[in-house]
Amino acid sequence: MSMIEKVSKWIELFGEKVTQNKETLNKLDTAIGDGDHGSNLTRGAAAIREKAEETTYDNLSKLFQDVGMTLVSKVGGASGPLYGSAFIEMAKKAKETEDIGEILEAGLNGIQKRGKAEVGEKTMVDEWAPVIDHIKSGSFTDEIIQESLQNTKEMKATKGRASYLGDRSIGHIDPGAQSSAYFFEALLDSGV
Ligand code: ADP
Ligand code: MG
Ligand code: MG
Repeated sequence: MSMIEKVSKWIELFGEKVTQNKETLNKLDTAIGDGDHGSNLTRGAAAIREKAEETTYDNLSKLFQDVGMTLVSKVGGASGPLYGSAFIEMAKKAKETEDIGEILEAGLNGIQKRGKAEVGEKTMVDEWAPVIDHIKSGSFTDEIIQESLQNTKEMKATKGRASYLGDRSIGHIDPGAQSSAYFFEALLDSGV
């Protein structure tokens, strides 16, 4: 499979995972947010699927760009613009390299530029940052994905809606970290 076929597969699998786990994501978000994270991303996944069906891609950057623009325009809430920024920055980086570690790192920078969250604030950044470190050092496994996800449980949210709860955000997995875990599971499964 070419890089572009693998990346298409990855994005498709990510969409399937968030759609299948819509209720799980909504439930996690009900505990520390407003209960819509699964619904938000499922809407995005449907729009991405629609776009992919009507487009043939011969350019990796264009594929990432379209996914990013779709997420920004179709997904409400914090997560749409954040995932959208990630894909738009990934599109820019994909013009220079096919190295997935570098591409994802650019995506993480996009998330952080937009949302201003650092590691340890109980957001999707706490899934992206450790996983990318392992991808770059060639030690990326499913265990790393799950371990990073579980680590968000004991964190106190200081960014996003969950931060309104203060200490009461402790003890719950962050919904955006869970959807990001699906994102990286899909990456593993796609063989990118
Ligand atoms: P909303 O909170 O607007 O309803 P979602 O429920 O779709 O949006 O997404 C919530 C998730 O977005 C959180 O679980 C968290 O991972 C992520 N998030 C929120 N704010 C930020 C931020 N400033 N930086 C990074 N991620 C964030
Ligand atoms: Mg929400
Ligand atoms: Mg919301």
